[in-house]
Amino acid sequence: MINERYREDRERRRLGSLTVYSGPTHSGKTKKLEAEAERAQRQGRRMQRLAAAADPNALLSQLDPAAELLTVDDAQQYDDRLVEVLNDLATIHRMDVVVAGWELDYAGRPAGPMPDLLCAADFALKLDDGVCAQPGCRNLASRTQRFQVVNGAPERFLPVCRRHHTAEPRAQMFQEIWFDEPSGSLDLISGCMFSGKTQELIRRLDQARYAGFTVQAFKPALDDRYAIEAVASHREIRFPAIAVPDVAALRAQVRDNTRVIGIDEVQFFEPDIVALAEELANRGRHVIIAGLDLDFLSRPFGPMPLLAAYADRLTKLQASCQYPGCGSRQATRTQRLVDGVPASADDPLVVIGGAATYEARCRHHHRLGVTAKIDAEAVRVAEDSAEL
Ligand SMILES: [Zn+2]
Ligand SMILES: [Zn+2]
Repeated sequence: MINERYREDRERRRLGSLTVYSGPTHSGKTKKLEAEAERAQRQGRRMQRLAAAADPNALLSQLDPAAELLTVDDAQQYDDRLVEVLNDLATIHRMDVVVAGWELDYAGRPAGPMPDLLCAADFALKLDDGVCAQPGCRNLASRTQRFQVVNGAPERFLPVCRRHHTAEPRAQMFQEIWFDEPSGSLDLISGCMFSGKTQELIRRLDQARYAGFTVQAFKPALDDRYAIEAVASHREIRFPAIAVPDVAALRAQVRDNTRVIGIDEVQFFEPDIVALAEELANRGRHVIIAGLDLDFLSRPFGPMPLLAAYADRLTKLQASCQYPGCGSRQATRTQRLVDGVPASADDPLVVIGGAATYEARCRHHHRLGVTAKIDAEAVRVAEDSAEL
């Protein structure tokens, strides 16, 4: 496998990262990927391209041990195992991995491992170079429309906005008079704890309020009561919000005249939140959502992968790593500490009012605590590997 000498060298020089470029057809994903590859070549870094769909477990054996940059195009063709393989390459082998792929297929269905990759990535970008192909539309293109063969013209795939997209292939453009509601959008702000997600949400809600839009903000209630509370960041910037116990309650609270809807801590809602967010965006609302993309074990958190796939805009924020002496500004993981010790996989996903504290960590300093069931030898091995 990876030569020991290369690995030591790599650890001295590099952090390793996972970057994901996504977006509809013609959005420039592959161009971005190629630009990174060319830059690496100019800098004399050794790189490897993986283009053909393959068994992701076979990737490791194909890998050039000296490669510093790995590019994977058309990542939607792989299965879910790709996420773990690429995470290992970035974390353990400290490679810079750059992935391109579409997160939704032409029917608007989430594609392959892309939703999970958008959560696992250190840097994730939804490209919006593809302007909606509908004549006169200035909305952001976030979907791929399939146009059928008509009068000898070949089948085409064009980028369109969410309003001008249909799951079924069609022959022609829409007439604007078919719509009786303004067009809406879904924006997702994601990242680890202390990355400034809530501050960014509040900044956007304030902008909408200054512009005269009717704004409603929501957050999950930690108990079953309705409450008028506030979305508040760690720095005590606040915005009034309604705390709701579940998705049905949120739906019931949305008023007819509301144009902009903010939702904080969206990872705590049930999976139905995805359908509600899509419905509101398709019915003319600007939905702005903030949430933790990974849980304390670095697993995609609840509805976040699907929200990342369906979002028209994705803003992925990073924090500074709080591990002593690291200082990397690539922190994308949330470390749970119980009495100062990393929490283990046995711990409950959500702790309310417990003794746990949280830190932002980069992918190299995110630690998994040891579960009580494992014997002493396994503990020693786990601690050794944690020092990488
Ligand atoms: Zn459009
Ligand atoms: Zn770190």
